[in-house]
Amino acid sequence: MTQYGPKREDIILQPVSGKALEVYRGEVLRIIQIEGEQCVDFDAFNLHDYKEYLGVSNTRSKYGFRPKKGDMIWSVHSRNRPMFIILEMPQTCVTDLLGGRCQAANHYAEGFTPTAYGAHTNCQDTFAACIGEYGLTPDDVHDSFNMWMNTEWDSRGQYWIVRNTGRKGDYVDLLAMFDILAVPIICGSGDTQITSNYGFKPIQVQVFRPSAETEAICASCASKYESVQRRLEHFKVKEIHSERELKRKPNYRAEFVNFPIRTKKIPVELTEEQFRALQGLKEHGLGHTDGEALRTAFFTWYHRNRRPVPLRGRVRQS
Ligand SMILES: [Zn+2]
Repeated sequence: MTQYGPKREDIILQPVSGKALEVYRGEVLRIIQIEGEQCVDFDAFNLHDYKEYLGVSNTRSKYGFRPKKGDMIWSVHSRNRPMFIILEMPQTCVTDLLGGRCQAANHYAEGFTPTAYGAHTNCQDTFAACIGEYGLTPDDVHDSFNMWMNTEWDSRGQYWIVRNTGRKGDYVDLLAMFDILAVPIICGSGDTQITSNYGFKPIQVQVFRPSAETEAICASCASKYESVQRRLEHFKVKEIHSERELKRKPNYRAEFVNFPIRTKKIPVELTEEQFRALQGLKEHGLGHTDGEALRTAFFTWYHRNRRPVPLRGRVRQS
């Protein structure tokens, strides 16, 4: 197990609260089940630039719906860099990148709060309450990475929540790759939904200072993924939009990557047998023309047979 530095923070989150915590590069955020069976929703921002935040779809595209021990939590596509490495995570912590966060309207629709919209506890409002300490607004709450949230899905893309499998004493360790404002909260759906098995439980949160070992992991990760990151200097528009109204910039010219697309005809010689196979592909709907069917055949072969290429160098920075 990775050695951490000394513990510098140790708090209990009571239902149904949360806390925005500064977690610096090389530090480990530990989230502990005190009683078990409690869903923890999690948001995170770059402490020095809140427009870089935890990217649910970016992480999902790399690891699927349930990131696990050893996976990384990435920031949004516009920046694309690892925010955390999941150093420890028991199998009883089922994670979720499908369900997002609950909101007051869920409960209003259920009829549990007929008197006042927003009166029921919910993750959207809990996140907003936490990040308000740093001047952020409810609009800055983003899709959450959910720990101990047991979602299942079917082939139609429908998902649903099943019983929470978290056990007393379970803990998750997240190693921060850079300075982060981390926001763990206790899901507000506890009373009416199975997310936390129809109950609310407290959660313990600790922060451990960096160690030589965690700093070495950060340095190695930063160097490994440097080439796929996007930084502010790559942005055509760098200033944060400060007005709510959107107005067109008359002199703005969009610069698209590799636009316009250039194509080149490449002659390909096929044997009789290959040509017959190509016509077969067309008959199966895998291309309207010989060229389309050939591209389908080639890239199907390519994706099945290519060796994994190291991430470095695969993405061109603009
Ligand atoms: Zn929730």
